[in-house]
Amino acid sequence: MKTLDGQDITHIHARGRAFLMRKTPLQVSEITAEAPEAEYEKFSLALEQVTDELSMLQKQAECENDAALLEVQIFMAMDPDFIDRVRYFIIEKNLSAAHAVKMAAEAFSASLTALGNEHFSERVHDIKDVAERIIMRLTGTRREKTVLPPDSVLVAEELLPSGLIALNRENLRGIVLEQGGATSHVALLAKSYGIALFMNAKDALELISDGDDILLSGKIYVNPDASAPSECDEDLSEFLPPAYTNDGKRIRIYANVDSWESVEQALSMKAEGIGLFRTEFLLMGDGPGRDEEASFELYSRISKAFDGPVTVRTYDVGYDKMVHEGEKPEKNPALGVRGIRFCMSNRELFRTQLRALLRASASKGNIRVMFPMISSPDELDGVLDFLDEVKRELASEGIPYDENIKVGTMIEVPSAAIMSDVLAKKCDFFSIGTNDLMQYTIAVDRASEKLSYLAPPLHPAVARLIAMVVRSASEAGIETCVCGEAAGDERLIPILTGLGLNALSMASVSIPSVVRAVRKTDIGKASLIAGKVLHAGSIKETETLTEESNAETGDRK
Ligand code: PEP
Ligand code: MG
Repeated sequence: MKTLDGQDITHIHARGRAFLMRKTPLQVSEITAEAPEAEYEKFSLALEQVTDELSMLQKQAECENDAALLEVQIFMAMDPDFIDRVRYFIIEKNLSAAHAVKMAAEAFSASLTALGNEHFSERVHDIKDVAERIIMRLTGTRREKTVLPPDSVLVAEELLPSGLIALNRENLRGIVLEQGGATSHVALLAKSYGIALFMNAKDALELISDGDDILLSGKIYVNPDASAPSECDEDLSEFLPPAYTNDGKRIRIYANVDSWESVEQALSMKAEGIGLFRTEFLLMGDGPGRDEEASFELYSRISKAFDGPVTVRTYDVGYDKMVHEGEKPEKNPALGVRGIRFCMSNRELFRTQLRALLRASASKGNIRVMFPMISSPDELDGVLDFLDEVKRELASEGIPYDENIKVGTMIEVPSAAIMSDVLAKKCDFFSIGTNDLMQYTIAVDRASEKLSYLAPPLHPAVARLIAMVVRSASEAGIETCVCGEAAGDERLIPILTGLGLNALSMASVSIPSVVRAVRKTDIGKASLIAGKVLHAGSIKETETLTEESNAETGDRK
């Protein structure tokens, strides 16, 4: 048995036979162009064909994530900087169109990588993908379609998003990649398809051979023996909500969703409601986000599917989610026009969303509205005024809505946590976004791999902020939930519940392991350990306490 380390992106246990996919770079044999202008015409035609092809694929996309990815690729294919570079290589350097595209894509990728921002460096895969499509058109090359045998674990240096979309996924159990980053589109797609994915598995193509038995379970086990974990064979289907702790406290288990497909997954995992609907994905591709009627229908359909709350977060556009249309990316998008700042500066789009969700709230009364990235009480006041304006507008048109619709604030900026006592008096619930709360508290980009040593799953400073928020909410008599990745991390359940949280929202794939962790937790003991976390003097101490909290509860059934 061999073991390989890698970054476990989806935390899904899987087993299958290795299927190695080595890169066969496209051959661009013709280097120079005889007639540059004619060559440029050839390029223009190929570009048009590729953008048409991408638009057609986008229309046929099975889910919003696929559509969003294709949208990014169309955007890149039409990028004036990319086109100018191709023109330069053809006209000024007399290169063939195919070779010019290759050179332009390499230069464009290098300039994105040089920005030093992980989000942009990961877009390099999209550029390669687009460039390959254009080169294939220009050279008349066709790639053989990869057909995976049943129960395959794909092992490759990298995988382009289009490559994943094109695979026969019914036979795909897992993916091991030598490269990649947690926020790449492939990672996002694998999560939404529920496929096990390991990235940054060094030398995987050297160390794994075709047909090897591969177990993905925290690590990559090659031809596992009896000492390898057997957890992937474990049936977690008995661990579905409701979830009570070992000593009888009910913890509500909600799902994070981004599309109807993910809602279906949440339903199959018996989620008690939706704790976070990331609606910004509805703005991508042909998504319904810009259309009041289509949004209303989607929100209504989701509302009807659950008895529990359906928490619709307004568009959290910006940072890694989407570049604002027609605008250059900001120099520091994490600190820029993101979340509620985007909504309030795009009022008509925001109005469309609020009208749709208010209208959908009328029938069942379980829709809640939640605002991302609130950083001050003043900002929340402005948003609540606008919500009132939209409500008055609907009332004047005689359109019904839930007059008692619950309004929530996401706590993901340290200033919001610090002022949570004030915010709690202005809204009905909080939802703590630990992904951003962590990034903004410790000043580490949430996508950074290099700085991961500074960003443990639960930083003691973040634990203190969470405790502050829970206390403010309890004093004001409002609910608090955690909807960041921490809520789906089974190891953190004793500490989070010990800190007083009684609602957790997570990716549906994490529900069984979290329910199991809740059932093992003893709130009395967990509270004592959580109390120690609040006095922890270091990250290391918090980690030791996390281990202790799992050991304390680990033997219980
Ligand atoms: C968070 O920041 O923790 C969160 C849930 O929001 P998102 O991950 O969509 O930024
Ligand atoms: Mg966030």
